[in-house]
Amino acid sequence: FTLNNDDLVTLKNLGSGNSGTVCKILHVPTQKTMAKKTIHIDLKTVIQTQIIRELRILHECQSPYIIEFYGAFLNTNNTIVICMEYCNCGSLDKILPLCDDKQFPLYVLKKLAYSILSGLSYLYTTHKIIHRDIKPSNVLMTHKGEFKLCDFGVSRELTNSLAMADTFVGTSTYMSPERIQGLNYGVKSDVWSMGLMLIELANGVPVWSDDEAGQTGGPEGILDLLQRIVNETPPTLTGKINNITKQKFDPLLCQFIDSSLIKDDSLRKSPRELLDDKDGFLKGVEEGVFEKDVKSWAKKIRKLHKEKTEDK
Ligand code: ADP
Ligand code: MG
Repeated sequence: FTLNNDDLVTLKNLGSGNSGTVCKILHVPTQKTMAKKTIHIDLKTVIQTQIIRELRILHECQSPYIIEFYGAFLNTNNTIVICMEYCNCGSLDKILPLCDDKQFPLYVLKKLAYSILSGLSYLYTTHKIIHRDIKPSNVLMTHKGEFKLCDFGVSRELTNSLAMADTFVGTSTYMSPERIQGLNYGVKSDVWSMGLMLIELANGVPVWSDDEAGQTGGPEGILDLLQRIVNETPPTLTGKINNITKQKFDPLLCQFIDSSLIKDDSLRKSPRELLDDKDGFLKGVEEGVFEKDVKSWAKKIRKLHKEKTEDK
């Protein structure tokens, strides 16, 4: 079916980023609940048309680790509208404050890392797509404890346009050193971002917090921070816990994060290589060893999320 704005009823706002707003909507003809992303950046009509054309490849991206795409269109007021699968536990940045001690349990981190790597590996091997924007708000969870990636760089034009909107607003702190330096980068760049994200979810605090981007948070602060990412030794799980008492972390988790955060990307593993390490941190995930625990945890999170957001 083709999506049309007249068939969509907005149910509620789910949040907004640097370039747009996401709403929960109902597609009336099919009675399907969806998430609708509206991108408000001023673009020439040719560019917009090109973006819509490029987004069509999303119809072919089908994987349990990737958010399902329903369609994209240009709206009358010159905005780009993207409709996708709605995830009823929200994104990881919204889930983190709901966790006990503001930390994800170890078994959840295992399934999460496995799901991210499987999604990245699928996008790369099947479609030659690099995600480019791995961060907690772009990984979503369902009440069944499934993790799915969204907002990846399928459209060259959209990626270019959004890069303009994103510069200097802090989200670039998940960027790999090679990317910050303007070097060639590939799928291993997403592995770096995943490593940073895992530190944040394991200890509850972002690796590079706002005050580190300088008191003003302005462009100088961000530039300084980006320079540090390139020049300093990489962050580790145990080395950097802001004001929190040092705690013991699982050695395999620490090792996994360390191998994701190797600064030289020629020495860093690819998603496929990390998945193929059958005796490391991810051992047991594929066999479903943690599935029962993850499911009951997700059920608990769904309940808390529902209470907080009054979602039905
Ligand atoms: P950002 O990812 O930078 O936060 P976005 O505009 O991409 O900005 O998304 C805004 C918020 O909408 C996200 O933080 C997330 O919580 C929510 N969101 C996005 N897509 C979905 C979806 N498919 N299902 C449920 N919530 C979503
Ligand atoms: Mg997003």
